[in-house]
Amino acid sequence: MRTVALLGDEHVPALGQGTWMMGERSERRSAEIEALRVGVDLGMTLIDTAEMYGEGAAEELIGEALGSVRDQLFLVSKAYPQNASQARLAAACEASLRRLGTDRIDLYLLHWRGSVPLGETVEAMKALQSAGKIRHWGVSNLDTDDMEELLAVGGDGCAVDQILYNLTRRGPEHDLLPWLEARAMPVMAYSPVEQGRLLANKTLHSIAETIGATPAQVALAWTMRRSGVIAIPKAGTVAHVRENRAAVDLALSDDDLAALDAAFPPPRGRRPLEML
Ligand code: NAP
Repeated sequence: MRTVALLGDEHVPALGQGTWMMGERSERRSAEIEALRVGVDLGMTLIDTAEMYGEGAAEELIGEALGSVRDQLFLVSKAYPQNASQARLAAACEASLRRLGTDRIDLYLLHWRGSVPLGETVEAMKALQSAGKIRHWGVSNLDTDDMEELLAVGGDGCAVDQILYNLTRRGPEHDLLPWLEARAMPVMAYSPVEQGRLLANKTLHSIAETIGATPAQVALAWTMRRSGVIAIPKAGTVAHVRENRAAVDLALSDDDLAALDAAFPPPRGRRPLEML
């Protein structure tokens, strides 16, 4: 599995597994558990979740599916903005730890920016780190100006920014991705197949057919083409997990990239960060 360097001293898989909408439907539960386990066996050991997902149901599913292989995992979870305060973050983290069935979260993120000052969230994250409850902390859905502010309030230990980034959401290429790259801070690209909507795109289909791959593989390989990008597709079936895993080994040629640029043009100017 290709890896991405985190804070200069640790390497995490460039392809992980998302879990939004998992653990919410009993009839899908066994397929989701199987999908997560196969993904881990295939090297997709970075698991992304959040206290928000099913109000804890996704974290519980991960605990059930992967508790026995905990030490192989790099677990990422996120706190609601209203919980990202000195008064509330420790309790939110404790609840996530309990649902996940573990004693530490590898990377704990502020899910999006709310009314708690960023400096207060940074202090609360550092306290959890000192207590050994989390190994690293980071943010999600923060645009370039928010990231500048984060650094100005002591947030230089931020490990990642998790953002919406895929072929149809290329805005971050204008300034946020270069800003993060200049600081060697990885990006976690969420909704890399635009929650499945991208896969119906006719141009993507024809490009995929030309190179003997599937639309999902092309979309994922494109997202991971920049070093420093970690893609976290959610797949609820073993077939999708296997298909997505193969995208790591798909090298897109300059011609492929040019065709994708023509179909999904890069931004010409600054665009505000989008979120789902
Ligand atoms: P996504 O990964 O772009 O798309 C998931 C959808 O695509 C599911 O319906 C899945 O179907 C389908 N899919 C996956 N692989 C496929 C394949 N090979 N062929 C066909 N369909 C495929 O969307 P997402 O779940 O929104 O984003 C991924 C993860 O990012 C989330 O699960 C979550 O962990 C994280 N996220 C974070 C934020 C944030 O604010 N930080 C926001 C959104 C998402 P099946 O389930 O049937 O396989």
